[in-house]
Amino acid sequence: MSKYIDLTGEKFGRLTAIRRVENAKNGQTRFLCRCDCGNYRTVVAVQLRSGQTQSCGCMRKDLLTTHNATNTRLYSVWWGIKSRCYSPKCRGYENYGGRGITICDEWLGKDGFQHFRDWAYANGYDENAPRGECTIDRIDNDKGYSPDNCRWVDMKFQGNHRRNNREITYNGETHTASEWAKKIGISVETIFSRLDRNWSVTEALNGREAQEE
Ligand SMILES: [Zn+2]
Repeated sequence: MSKYIDLTGEKFGRLTAIRRVENAKNGQTRFLCRCDCGNYRTVVAVQLRSGQTQSCGCMRKDLLTTHNATNTRLYSVWWGIKSRCYSPKCRGYENYGGRGITICDEWLGKDGFQHFRDWAYANGYDENAPRGECTIDRIDNDKGYSPDNCRWVDMKFQGNHRRNNREITYNGETHTASEWAKKIGISVETIFSRLDRNWSVTEALNGREAQEE
């Protein structure tokens, strides 16, 4: 064994050189290393010193896993939208595709997912948000999925949004709750708190005092 630099005890990324072992077939010095994850691996000294090898292989695996998980979650959002809009067998189709809700060409065609992903990250998609706290929402319920009609919101917001769009018929006229609220000049919260107390639609929109007068 010729002259070599002793790396014993030195750390390279996740690897710590434990002891020198037999040279590689081409004569390169090698060290047995212990990885932070507990695995052992024999690595050529040059690769340690150059930073080319920094773990037993677990580092790359970790990176891939994170990368895939991120992609998978957003991908399943995109896939879900596509199914609801274009697969009659999909649960919920009647509220989407069945109502004429579509996806814009940009998000649908070739590279559709990439375009959707780029839009998502540029517009507030948070891959670290707990499930349900970052969901896609259509601003206008009657319009489709496109960059100008979509946003990322939490479930509570989406619930309110859906509630405010609930249609209420009164005196033969049908409007959404928020439209009624605007028309009458009360808040949509007032309308729903009244309905929650089992007031009739007439009472919810006009108030009970008005009825008694
Ligand atoms: Zn490792």
